[in-house]
Amino acid sequence: MSSNRTNGALLLPEQGLERVSVLTYVTDTFTLKGCKRRLYRDENERLVFYTGSRLRGVVVVSVILEPPRAWTRRKRYGVHVDPECTMAILRYLDQRGYQVNAVCHSHPFDDVPTPSGTDYELQRRLEAHGYTAVGMVFSRSAVRFFSHSMKFKVHVEGDDVKAAGDRVFLL
Ligand SMILES: [Zn+2]
Repeated sequence: MSSNRTNGALLLPEQGLERVSVLTYVTDTFTLKGCKRRLYRDENERLVFYTGSRLRGVVVVSVILEPPRAWTRRKRYGVHVDPECTMAILRYLDQRGYQVNAVCHSHPFDDVPTPSGTDYELQRRLEAHGYTAVGMVFSRSAVRFFSHSMKFKVHVEGDDVKAAGDRVFLL
């Protein structure tokens, strides 16, 4: 990379000032399959958080954080995590230099999952507070990545999961 000096001011080349406006969420087939196994340990919906590395617009979904049982209410159709618990997890990560990279939950269905109005509302609130965590909703056969209005891309490493349309991967 080259730079020029003019009147003592350091001028960065255009490239050096490039902004990353669209985040790419990177994960792998081991992580997705492991997440699915964990989400479907029983018949009730479950929610977990993911963190991991971030580097120049790449957000890695790799480290799982499961809210303690005492802070969650899980039913066949719905999971609720105490907001205090969510705040505690956000603080825990923040104190260690991490961010929440994804919020994942399960739906008790077999076909390709679609986020509910509640799912989009949680996502809207996260984005409104400046969090860049992507939503991931699972069914027993697939996972869909989604957001409220945040633009993003997805890369899944590994060939043993099939891409099936708009940010959907068959597991
Ligand atoms: Zn849902």
